[in-house]
Amino acid sequence: MSDVFNNELFEAFAAASDNVYIYVCDMRTDISRWSKSAIEYFGLDKEYLEDAANVWAQHIHPDDLAVYMEDITGVFSGAKKYHDCQYRARNAAGRYVWVECKGSVIRDGEGNPVIFAGLMTRIDGQSKYDSLTGLLTTHELHGFDFAAQPGIALLIGMDGFRKIISSYGYNVGDEILVRFAREIRDLCKPGWKALRFSGDEFLVVAFGAGREEVTDFYKEICQRTEMTELEDGRRVGVSISAGGVFFPADADMRDILINKLEHSIEYAKNHQRGDLVFFSDEIAREHERSLALREDLKQCIKNDFKGFELYFQPFVDPDTGAIAGCECLLRWQGERIRDSYPMEFIKVLEDYGDIREVGFWVMDQAMRQQAAWRERYGELQMSFNVSYQQLMDDTFEEKAVSCLEKYGVHPESIIIELTESCQVDAPKELAAIFDRLRAQGFKMALDDFGTAYASMEILKWLHVDYIKVEHSFVRELAKPGHDIDYVIIDSLLEMCRRLGCSSIIEGVENAKVADIVKELNATLLQGYFYSHPVCREEFEKLLEQGGKLSVPHAAT
Ligand code: C2E
Ligand code: CA
Repeated sequence: MSDVFNNELFEAFAAASDNVYIYVCDMRTDISRWSKSAIEYFGLDKEYLEDAANVWAQHIHPDDLAVYMEDITGVFSGAKKYHDCQYRARNAAGRYVWVECKGSVIRDGEGNPVIFAGLMTRIDGQSKYDSLTGLLTTHELHGFDFAAQPGIALLIGMDGFRKIISSYGYNVGDEILVRFAREIRDLCKPGWKALRFSGDEFLVVAFGAGREEVTDFYKEICQRTEMTELEDGRRVGVSISAGGVFFPADADMRDILINKLEHSIEYAKNHQRGDLVFFSDEIAREHERSLALREDLKQCIKNDFKGFELYFQPFVDPDTGAIAGCECLLRWQGERIRDSYPMEFIKVLEDYGDIREVGFWVMDQAMRQQAAWRERYGELQMSFNVSYQQLMDDTFEEKAVSCLEKYGVHPESIIIELTESCQVDAPKELAAIFDRLRAQGFKMALDDFGTAYASMEILKWLHVDYIKVEHSFVRELAKPGHDIDYVIIDSLLEMCRRLGCSSIIEGVENAKVADIVKELNATLLQGYFYSHPVCREEFEKLLEQGGKLSVPHAAT
């Protein structure tokens, strides 16, 4: 027996794991030794096999045999350095399981093959096909050769899939994913591959395709999935966005390609919802900026919130024109990035979960300021913004109450504005949090009311004190052809009154709009006409003017 096999290392490796199987072949005699676990699991005759390549070939699924033979012949002939392929192999129970087979040839000084050794890993846990949609899983990506021919990879994702699940439940979510996968598969051209990438994201690798063909494919997918009719007859609107990347482009393709796809779809969702957006320098720049923003923000948070500041925008009493309070709005300047707007940096804080920490800082600063101003200017209604994510933090209520106590603030003077009301996926929990905070005395507000189609629905679950009418209805109010905006605002305010809530109209930008909205009997008004958000010193000047804002204040 060859000393190739009398090796303690073989025994040690063979015993190492129960889903990894070891084999070593003496290529001079074509005799190979297989680990005991392999013999048992695959039902091989014996530990030492002659002509193992052919014996083993009989265990391979007929559809995968060509892939295996091509790979192994390449390795034996020296054309390929390593044996590395995946195929289905029949086990002792007669069932085919997916294995990943890797190995390499060791040669003597003259380059003659001496030993072929390798291991096989059972990968049936990482199934080749997604059990829900039947599409390939991302595990299969390893088998794609992106360098062999040009093409386009597309990452298609649903917009607001979480919302679909929260409105219709998981079963409907699954039904939509299955339908969606079927449409994708139907529309794929021969040679293209479709994979389920993650929950609601699908990857299409269009080998050999050009921009036009892929764009048509995407348009057709959009059309077919725009309105999905469920088995029970209900119709659900589904919108999608996608990122696209051309290949071959780089030497080390796969990971870079996936990163580019992820950046492209993120860009599409943020800036061009519904579109297919191809990777570009602009996307790369935006991604780099978002990384730099994140680093800069982290640094500031660590540095005791250096660079963060609150600005204040007055709430005005429509009858007297006096300042009744203000909204606290976050501003930030980093060490490197000094021109980031709230919409941008707050999104980054939210995406990385840092908004909670910063949000607590905002809450603390707002209450501290409220207490300080009360002594000098009397009681002001002061609001600050919180996202759903922040409110759902287990410690929110406790921290809010401890802030009240720390600064001796009256909770009735604090309005907590819930932003992005459309992303609510646990309405009962949210309603309970609202009720508890209201029981503590805080005033709760729904921000941007009227924009999200879920706004009305939210009102069914939540008890709120204030509704803030979204400024897009208000801004154009005085322009011809905007009568409908007036009707909408009027109806929203009527609804507030009937529900017993107060109202704040945002976006009052000029005197004409101010005149119109004054007639509407809102509780408070807010907008550039009265003042832009301003820093503490500027806001104090406004308060010192007696709180009367009869002329527009032109700060930034
Ligand atoms: P928002 O809560 O809807 O805040 C009102 C935004 O409208 C502010 O933008 C304000 O500057 C702007 N605005 C005020 N009056 C007018 C007007 O007459 N016309 C127009 N066109 N806009 C007006 P800002 O300060 O850029 O804030 C943007 C958003 O950032 C806020 O929208 C809010 O969602 C978020 N935000 C700001 N501070 C915080 C915070 O501390 N925490 C959280 N979670 N979000 C915040
Ligand atoms: Ca707000």
